[in-house]
Amino acid sequence: MRRHVIVIGGGIVGLAVARELAMRRGHSVTVLEKEAAWASQQTGHNSGVIHSGLYYKPGSLKARMCVAGNRSMIEFAKDRGIPVDICGKLVVATDDAERPALRALLDRAQANGVPARMVTPAEAREYEPEVAPAAALRVESTAIISYRAVCESLAADLAASGVTLHTGQRVTGITSTAGRPRPEIVVQASSLEVRGDALVNCAGLHSDRIARLAGVNPGVKIVPFRGEYYELRAARTALVTGLIYPVPDPAFPFLGVHLTRMIDGSVHAGPNAVLAMRREGYRWRDVSARDMADTLSYPGFWRFARRHYRAGVSEVVRSLSAARFAASVARLVPAVTEADIVRTGAGVRAQVLSRSGALADDFVIRTAPRQVHVLNAPSPAATAAFEIARHVAGQLTD
Ligand SMILES: Cc1cc2nc3c(=O)[nH]c(=O)nc-3n(C[C@H](O)[C@H](O)[C@H](O)COP(=O)(O)OP(=O)(O)OC[C@H]3O[C@@H](n4cnc5c(N)ncnc54)[C@H](O)[C@@H]3O)c2cc1C
Repeated sequence: MRRHVIVIGGGIVGLAVARELAMRRGHSVTVLEKEAAWASQQTGHNSGVIHSGLYYKPGSLKARMCVAGNRSMIEFAKDRGIPVDICGKLVVATDDAERPALRALLDRAQANGVPARMVTPAEAREYEPEVAPAAALRVESTAIISYRAVCESLAADLAASGVTLHTGQRVTGITSTAGRPRPEIVVQASSLEVRGDALVNCAGLHSDRIARLAGVNPGVKIVPFRGEYYELRAARTALVTGLIYPVPDPAFPFLGVHLTRMIDGSVHAGPNAVLAMRREGYRWRDVSARDMADTLSYPGFWRFARRHYRAGVSEVVRSLSAARFAASVARLVPAVTEADIVRTGAGVRAQVLSRSGALADDFVIRTAPRQVHVLNAPSPAATAAFEIARHVAGQLTD
């Protein structure tokens, strides 16, 4: 008997899961997305980088799925004619104090099987003429793409393979019934009721709420961290050839403000990381009393805030000051000044925070009978989407 699976969320993870299930025999699939278009939240507001897998703890889901995902995403793009550029990237230590952390990154790259090597400052300038590093790491497999374009292609494939796709359908209720001849999951959406045999929650910024709606205590909370971008003025984009990253702070799962040449040729600087006052709060003025109460009533948030308030204050100041933002960028490319950057969009990361105040640094995927909940899928989940999808489909089968 065919099994009908309902996928909630039409970002890259939900669409990739729908594709994986549709490719496996014995499934029919419905995707429910609340927005009018696919990839409207995290997926459509990211840096467009196909990460190499450099940063993540060896053996973690992020490490394994990012390294494999780098290959599967590039292969998919090439197969579908989606523009992709394997431009590689440079991680630059801006002073001697950062050398040990850069060395540790190289060790991690080697443990994860990522093609990376130390380069001299002179070699670094062959890749990026405007950098002036104390030391640098070159990674070859990092690439750039438009994840919106990937999602458009996925949605077209899904429609062609008979998957039922609904946009504009916000999920508001989920019940499980004993049902005859077999149990059912009933999902209420804006103007639809969908009955299925199983459920996959890929609701990104709302995935903890969807889990609760489905009767599962996620045990953690999503805290939204906005990442704001500036872009280089068109006349100054030649300052950056590809991707230039700082040495990351190991206390945070965010990579630090970096320079990214996008697939359309523009150059973005960012993202920073500030607490968003709405789960989908792309600007300071986007505030939701419900979302704020949710964050502020969570003991994990206060434990996190106490531990990291200095970094938090500094991020807020940088968010409000173009001069401070430009100064961060100039650490990577000294020629960049405040006059060279203009504010552009932002994305909001769905980041799981535990009750102890720790940011989950791996993907978190929980199962319940006939349900899989993708609870923590921040970066590099766009890169790893096809691998997450394989894992989720396996969990549903098991
Ligand atoms: C600033 C920023 C930069 C990033 N850069 C990169 C990068 O360069 N490379 C990389 O690999 N990753 C990057 N990431 C991470 C990457 O974008 C995410 O990991 C990925 O997009 C997660 O996809 P998703 O499908 O889980 O979530 P989303 O794209 O957020 O999709 C979830 C979907 O669920 C829908 N939804 C929510 N609630 C409901 C409901 N009740 N009913 C119906 N639908 C609902 C939402 O509308 C949304 O479309 C970045 C993220 C951010 C924020």
